[in-house]
Amino acid sequence: MAIMTLLAEILSIGDELTSGQRLDTNSQYLSQRLSDLGIQVRYHTTIGDELADNVDAFRIAAKRADVVIATGGLGPTADDLTREAISEAFELPLELRPEALAHIESLFSLRKRPMPERNRVQAMFPQTARIIPNPHGTAPGIDVELTPDGSPSSRCCRVFALPGVPAEMIEMLDATVLPRLVEEMGAGSSRWRYHSLKIFGIGESDVEQRLPDLIARNRIPRVGITVSRATITLRIAAQTATDEEFQQLIAPTVAEIRDALGDRIFGEGEIEIHQAVHALLESRSIRLGVIEVGACCRVAHLLASLQTSSRTGMVISQQVASLSELGSDEEEIRAWAAGDLENALSVAANRMLRTHGLDRCLAVGVYPAWNEVASAAMMPYADFAMCLAKRDSASKATTVSLGGHPDVLYHRLAKTALNFLRLDLLKS
Ligand code: ATP
Repeated sequence: MAIMTLLAEILSIGDELTSGQRLDTNSQYLSQRLSDLGIQVRYHTTIGDELADNVDAFRIAAKRADVVIATGGLGPTADDLTREAISEAFELPLELRPEALAHIESLFSLRKRPMPERNRVQAMFPQTARIIPNPHGTAPGIDVELTPDGSPSSRCCRVFALPGVPAEMIEMLDATVLPRLVEEMGAGSSRWRYHSLKIFGIGESDVEQRLPDLIARNRIPRVGITVSRATITLRIAAQTATDEEFQQLIAPTVAEIRDALGDRIFGEGEIEIHQAVHALLESRSIRLGVIEVGACCRVAHLLASLQTSSRTGMVISQQVASLSELGSDEEEIRAWAAGDLENALSVAANRMLRTHGLDRCLAVGVYPAWNEVASAAMMPYADFAMCLAKRDSASKATTVSLGGHPDVLYHRLAKTALNFLRLDLLKS
């Protein structure tokens, strides 16, 4: 069955956006919500506070989209032009709506203040428009349905205008705009659904090479690949009427990815690698100690953010500038001095394991100093050693050479250490 996809355009209005003073987060939010409904956002347009530009933007948007959502410009001041722009663009004279005026007056009387005359303008609506209630603000939204006027370029279009303040916009979107759109699309209609697989320990191009047919644009279900801070996400997307149908449709694709990538996949859905490791520690009732040497303690930082019990998971962490700060042990000091980092980490990890009665101790380093990372002429990199001491079996150690943009390097180092621990936990 062919599925008709509604096309949308988002208009963001305000000089503070075009001048760069404020970031347009409304467009991102609205696009995600519309895409969840299966509405395809084709354009983001940002316009300053000029009436003629706004009139043009509304006209253009209504010609090329089925749904237009505008935010901003609904306030009471002279530079709030959205009402006028809609009125002029679609030749719908403004009229006073007593129920909107009553709401605005009631908000002012709740705050025990007289309503300034200027606020009356917020109760003016283009003819035929429906009101979108704004329970917590004085700017009600506008909902206009445009029908074709017979000219070849005209089409049906639904235009919504919401306030720019994100909290008000979100509240009104949930309470009124999305339910009205769902009603228009018809109950039970298809929508886009998504499922993610999270991968660490392999490059993006390597993933593509192992799964060459997967990332094709017209494939059903679609698979998209993105990388964020050294973690790869494969996002599977398909348009189905129900969740069950979606699960059935994507099952062979998930199996194919699992076959190709095996335990490089650390989780499904919105999960990060430290959450996957934390879940393994908890499920196996493991008490973990962490030693980090050098400029930061990112492994401990990530695990501590999830700590739910004092008895399992990471129960102790130590950060030292160099291992000799820790070392009372001669062997450790000798190994450190000779640059045998794996050995020095192993002595320190085993000592922490015994002293605190732990099940595992992960010792990692050396995180390079930030000034070394920032001043690297080319891409900074680090030789990074990792040792895992275990209560019930021999320690394991390895050293990797890792590089990355300064913004990513520390994340990559910490995630590599967490992945080293995760792979060992999977075997135990
Ligand atoms: P109000 O009655 O509060 O004035 P409004 O519809 O007139 O509502 P604007 O004056 O255009 O809204 O914007 C109000 C505030 O909302 C802005 O100062 C800004 O902080 C925020 N804002 C506006 N547009 C956006 C956007 N696209 N993304 C994020 N924040 C926004």
